[in-house]
Amino acid sequence: MLVLMSRGVGRDDVRRVVELLQQRGLEAEPVDLGERAAIRIVAAAGGPPDPGTIAGLPGVERVIPLGRPFGRVERRRRLPDTVVRVGPVAIGSGEPVLIAGPCAVETEQQLLTAARQVRRAGARLLRGGAFKPRTSPYTFQGLGEPGLRLLARAREETGLPVVTEAVDERSLELVERHADMVQIGARNMQNFELLKRIGESGKPVLLKRGMSASLEELLLAAEYVVSEGNPRVVLCERGVRGFGAHARYTLDLSIVPAIRESSHLPVIVDPSHATGKRAFVAPLARAALAAGADGVMIETHPDPQQALCDGHQALDPDEFAALAAELRALAAHLSARPETVT
Ligand code: PEP
Ligand code: MN
Repeated sequence: MLVLMSRGVGRDDVRRVVELLQQRGLEAEPVDLGERAAIRIVAAAGGPPDPGTIAGLPGVERVIPLGRPFGRVERRRRLPDTVVRVGPVAIGSGEPVLIAGPCAVETEQQLLTAARQVRRAGARLLRGGAFKPRTSPYTFQGLGEPGLRLLARAREETGLPVVTEAVDERSLELVERHADMVQIGARNMQNFELLKRIGESGKPVLLKRGMSASLEELLLAAEYVVSEGNPRVVLCERGVRGFGAHARYTLDLSIVPAIRESSHLPVIVDPSHATGKRAFVAPLARAALAAGADGVMIETHPDPQQALCDGHQALDPDEFAALAAELRALAAHLSARPETVT
């Protein structure tokens, strides 16, 4: 909701109205609309405020409903998009970021080999699950804390910051201690208590879209994190449930420009989980960058046949190196073109 002030209203009047709104339990902030002062109501603890009452406050000309309940992650006119820094890596800076590594941390040798390989090929962040939210309880669930220690070792050796998933509050405490970025998986996108807790964290967050979540639900999940004080959120499209059997999920690339239109947060794409098929990963990674994604996350394995988890979608070292080179060339080509999506 935007509160448009009358012409000639000064800063003190605006501050007074902000205070009055805050006294009513509304979170409000002044916005600069150039010639005219305005106040944006970003959140309302007790439900939507009454526009009529607000219109009656001194100096207010009009109340404009913005119709979107995610004020903090919403695209801001005149303000730059968010760039999320993970160590030396900037996500959302215009240069696409390649995140890669195995589905799960399995052994020291597997992880260190994978980390060296992806770094050599040009990845900027290392992924690898220590806590795995598996569909079946009878499959490998991850190494837990020892897996996190291995990730920290891999970072020490390669210099790559690590991103890994937290599945609950207990694992979040451990992940915060060892990792550089916390992943919230598709199955936890609407675990609101976990989102609130991660909002108190100082770590950047990779928030994956739930497999049946709408754009609005994804942005509201991000809003939970940001409203608790953590603005460092990167969104991730990883496919939604469709009816086709040719791929595991349907990669919804249209959400990339849709996020650009409605939010200032960076967005990356995970073609590995979206397709569940090694042969489909490269074409969709290319398509993701062409659609304007700020990066892609790719699963790799030194020996996919031996993987304990998601081996069918993991790229082997040669396949990954070839894709990374292609994506670099594509990114250079795209950056030389005029921006078409704003
Ligand atoms: C993952 O990235 O390791 C993962 C489990 O993905 P998703 O939550 O998208 O299924
Ligand atoms: Mn996986």
